[in-house]
Amino acid sequence: MACTGCADTKLISIRMKIGVQDVVFQRCSRCEINQWATHDGEISLDEILELARMR
Ligand SMILES: [Zn+2]
Repeated sequence: MACTGCADTKLISIRMKIGVQDVVFQRCSRCEINQWATHDGEISLDEILELARMR
């Protein structure tokens, strides 16, 4: 998956579990954009917060 800001593919990825969902936190070292993804693709921070509430 590429950065949504600069299309760089060298992202730092950290896998974690939020609620019942496995998610990947990605940070771009070039433009410092943070983004979140699941197996289905990119999700917003709002959706992450929603997952965190579902337990
Ligand atoms: Zn970037």
